[in-house]
Amino acid sequence: MYDIIIIGSGPAGLTAAIYAKRAMLNAVVVEKDYMGTGQISVSERVDNYPGLYGISGYDLGEKFYEHAKALGTEFYEGEAKAIKKSGDGWTVVFENEKALEARAVIYAAGTSYRRLDVPGGEKQCVSYCAVCDGAFYQSKTVAVIGGGDTALGDAVYLSKIAKRVYLIHRRDEFRANKSLQAQVSGISNIEPIMNTVVKQINGGDRAEELVIEQNGRVDTLKIDGVFCALGSLPNTEILKGICSLDESGYVIAGEDGVTDAKGLFAVGDVRTTPLRQVITAAADGANAAISAEKLIRSI
Ligand code: NAP
Repeated sequence: MYDIIIIGSGPAGLTAAIYAKRAMLNAVVVEKDYMGTGQISVSERVDNYPGLYGISGYDLGEKFYEHAKALGTEFYEGEAKAIKKSGDGWTVVFENEKALEARAVIYAAGTSYRRLDVPGGEKQCVSYCAVCDGAFYQSKTVAVIGGGDTALGDAVYLSKIAKRVYLIHRRDEFRANKSLQAQVSGISNIEPIMNTVVKQINGGDRAEELVIEQNGRVDTLKIDGVFCALGSLPNTEILKGICSLDESGYVIAGEDGVTDAKGLFAVGDVRTTPLRQVITAAADGANAAISAEKLIRSI
């Protein structure tokens, strides 16, 4: 039996592992993808993690991973399918019916992309990752849908590859931070289209045209590619009925990671928190590992 099973190998999970190992606890990190480091790995550039200005998301994730590994963290590759209370501890069950047991679980499974729910939105060519797919659109016209940090960051990234980037947002102001907004407004091939919703994506194998509605007027826009940056949904399906979730599916937990299920802690993007950043995810991981340590030592 482990002391802690940490589900998720993004910044929150890996930091929890670092703190657990430093507390001499026997912890295992469950990773869905081999050596995966979560959504941070597809951020082109991270400018707000102290001490590592301008680092790529991929490199930052690697640093977390190497750090956890250097301290002797054990990794288990698999996708947790169920979490069950068993006696004083917890059992985590995987697809192949294999199970791991521990005194505590730190849940750090992060979020998944919110999908664009319009006709044509299910097309293979609609991308949710500018860094992964941007290179296919050299000197083409692309649209980015969304108004948050991801959308504006994607638009900046794509502006260096594509000829033209439409930045389509449903409201009249962006949600993204002011410095990104200032950056976007200084880039001549990014064209913001505000108060506009995408109603449909037309085309065959490739996206060719967007049907958009602006202030009640329907129009079309020729494009070669579509990137969606519509925010995220928490990966908390398997926690339903186990601990309390809010109306959007986030785990109700404080900064200490404590949930209303004893021995189950929630950290990072899955937790109810006013800020979802790498640094807050890492802080969550540290806090929850210490909360788990206190509980384990008290048993
Ligand atoms: P987000 O902040 O939730 O923004 C999602 C955007 O998509 C919003 O502008 C939203 O519009 C729009 N949207 C949602 N559903 C839509 C729909 N069905 N149709 C059209 N538009 C829709 O998500 P995010 O940009 O991925 O950021 C998530 C978190 O990660 C944030 O906390 C962000 O600060 C953080 N992040 C940080 C960095 C960084 O610091 N380097 C980079 C990326 C992300 P409304 O604005 O109208 O709601």
